[in-house]
Amino acid sequence: ATVTKDKDDEIKKEKVETRVTYNIVFVTAEAAPYSKTGGLGDVCGSLPIQLANHGHRVMVVSPRYLNGSSADENFAHVLDANKRIKLQCFGGEQEIAFFHEYREGVDWVFVDHPSYHRHGNPYGDSHGSFGDNQFRFTLLCHAACEAPLVLLLGGYTYGEKCLFLVNDWHAGLVPVLLASKYRPHGVYKDARSILVIHNLAHQGVEPVASFKNLGLPSNWYGALEWVFPTWARTHALDTGEAVNILKGAIVTADRILTVSKGYAWEITTVEGGYGLHEILSSRRAVLNGITNGIHVSEWDPSSDKHIPFCYSTSSLSGKVQCKTALQQELGLPIKPDCPLIGFIGRLDYQKGIDLIHWAIPELMEADVQFVMLGSGDPLYENWMRSAENTYRDKFRGWVGFNVPISHRITAGCDILLMPSRFEPCGLNQLYAMRYGTIPVVHATGGLRDTVENFNPYAEEGSSEGIGWAFSPFTKDSMLNALRTAIRTYKDHKSTWEGLMRRCMQKDFTWENAALQYEQVFEWAFIDPP
Ligand code: ADP
Repeated sequence: ATVTKDKDDEIKKEKVETRVTYNIVFVTAEAAPYSKTGGLGDVCGSLPIQLANHGHRVMVVSPRYLNGSSADENFAHVLDANKRIKLQCFGGEQEIAFFHEYREGVDWVFVDHPSYHRHGNPYGDSHGSFGDNQFRFTLLCHAACEAPLVLLLGGYTYGEKCLFLVNDWHAGLVPVLLASKYRPHGVYKDARSILVIHNLAHQGVEPVASFKNLGLPSNWYGALEWVFPTWARTHALDTGEAVNILKGAIVTADRILTVSKGYAWEITTVEGGYGLHEILSSRRAVLNGITNGIHVSEWDPSSDKHIPFCYSTSSLSGKVQCKTALQQELGLPIKPDCPLIGFIGRLDYQKGIDLIHWAIPELMEADVQFVMLGSGDPLYENWMRSAENTYRDKFRGWVGFNVPISHRITAGCDILLMPSRFEPCGLNQLYAMRYGTIPVVHATGGLRDTVENFNPYAEEGSSEGIGWAFSPFTKDSMLNALRTAIRTYKDHKSTWEGLMRRCMQKDFTWENAALQYEQVFEWAFIDPP
């Protein structure tokens, strides 16, 4: 093992010494701390900084959301870049303005337009998704293609030879625009694009008639042409025809990445491909998976400003105090030896909330406490509120999106439950591990890649694993894994402490992931478009 590690270190060192640097343009609907509803925001808020640390010139282009809440404070240092441009789409000229902040070595560029100024999150409000999202994200893509050409940042433009990192469907028109609108006129001939798929379930599918609005040459319809599978059609006369922006990105990007190796494989299967598995399979030669890193200074139990007591592997007593403080904050009985289980995430079909819902009556029979933080499906929001009344001494459901509370739950719980039906990468299990909170997850996608199953029967001294990954996706299988975790917590304290330490020592830094990204950048420039 030492020889392999030495070799790995040598390879890493060599890579750093011979590093080629690029002008990189992230295009994304979210970038923390400016905007975030999930992992996409986290990744686009931290990977750019890591790449800038590696010497690349990095710009992140995202909308300037203002919604009249305290979240607008996130844009307090973002200033008008005094550059207004007109974009040709949606039947006319749309004027946008660029805003900018240079922070932690990265040019954070924001596209400003009235359609980004409204209540709700980046995608919708309590009534559902915004009806004009195709318009809003088409603007983002057109603006992002212009930004490297027109914005003088630090005295220089990024220029044409840049690398676009296109995140999810919201940014999916970028590679299509490069291929159809710019390259035929000799612009961006040396640029490359990499599509990063964070979640294939969202594809930007709209009626065929909307194609004319996208600002693409009409002969490029085929790139976005899409036919719904028969089961998804609404009535017998429905031909299922639509435009699919993510599909356009899949067929035009130079390379494709997903946020874990497991998910890179899953999306090429019928079950995980959401109708795109054949197209993705056809591009397998340029498809790779890289597990996300985490922002290690934002999520660090030894210095976290959101938690009441800090701790580290050398002294875990702060974690016990965090648990007591959390029980107190939640109004739960203060019981240091009662296993406290947490869940943080969107209340969504993807996250397996239905499994938790069905399992709670049985789980609540045991000596456990359970806290959930999440927002989303109103059905489950209401269920969480009512479960609080049913299990007064054991269950708390916090409806909402609240970053400080998510840190306190991550630190104060003993176990983090993540029964996602599918999970491209998953960040909460990584945060949990760093805080010595043992993950119990459904063995899927990035969860399977990152949560090595614990084997209590392994020989003394050779036991490994950092949590429990259950399968199949059933209530009973989840309950079994939870019961094993609870038993280990209660009856085998030293084993539990070993698990905690192993979790906390895992390396989930972006440093590692960024080196793998750089490898893919190199491949993108080796193969001509
Ligand atoms: P996804 O991107 O599918 O939502 P991830 O696990 O990749 O799932 O990332 C979710 C991110 O959003 C994590 O940083 C998590 O802590 C955060 N998050 C999700 N729900 C909430 C919430 N209700 N309050 C605070 N943070 C949340």
